[in-house]
Amino acid sequence: MERAGSAVEAGEGREAIPLGYPRLDADVPVLHAPRLAGKAGELSGYLAQGYRSLGQILSVEPPRIIAYLVADEDWERAPRDNERPYPPGLPYFTRSVEPPALVLPEELSTVFRPRTAATLPLTVWHELAHAFLLGQGVVRTPAWLGEFVPQAASAAVARRVGLPLEEHLSRIDREEPGFTVRNFRGPAGAEDQMSFQNLLLLLGAAALEEFGEGFLQSIFHTLWEEDRIVDGERAEELLGDSLGQGGREWLESRPEF
Ligand SMILES: [Zn+2]
Repeated sequence: MERAGSAVEAGEGREAIPLGYPRLDADVPVLHAPRLAGKAGELSGYLAQGYRSLGQILSVEPPRIIAYLVADEDWERAPRDNERPYPPGLPYFTRSVEPPALVLPEELSTVFRPRTAATLPLTVWHELAHAFLLGQGVVRTPAWLGEFVPQAASAAVARRVGLPLEEHLSRIDREEPGFTVRNFRGPAGAEDQMSFQNLLLLLGAAALEEFGEGFLQSIFHTLWEEDRIVDGERAEELLGDSLGQGGREWLESRPEF
């Protein structure tokens, strides 16, 4: 039967069009290349852990999202915000489809390091945290704060689900990358980007150790409530205050900062 497209139908249509993948149902459904069914199951597990943990940590109704597990040969046809495909192997979050989607490659790019059992789940939870953050409007912030939040959130999920991070953190190259999270300037090469993310992960894990996970709820809600662009100075205030008593001094004392 033919019907004129209603808004609902248009929504369903947009979800179904990209790639025509089969769907693995869950809180975060995974649309996956048929030959990647096994990998889809693994990712679905990480997504479920992250989705539930972040909902609890942040005390919010999780956003409605889906995930695409995209085969290499389909990467150029994956949903995305820009006209040109993104570099292969880099997961991202896009609102170009409804519901918005996490797009995950069949293999993470080799720029992701260190490579441990925690690399993939942390990466999935990082993107999921971006999805939660963007699920309610957020203003622009300095890059270090915009990436610190999902890095700290991914470490908090790891703590909740009992994924030990010691080995992963110990294998981060501690050689000074020549910048701190505050004076890192993009655009940078893939290696420097990774060093930047790893500094943020170390800072996030240290903050969880020192202050517990409560600061995440505070910083997410603070960012959702901000209505003006957050500059560097304001970003430091917001994070320092979210950490709790002594937060600003603690931040200033950290080598990564
Ligand atoms: Zn990110």
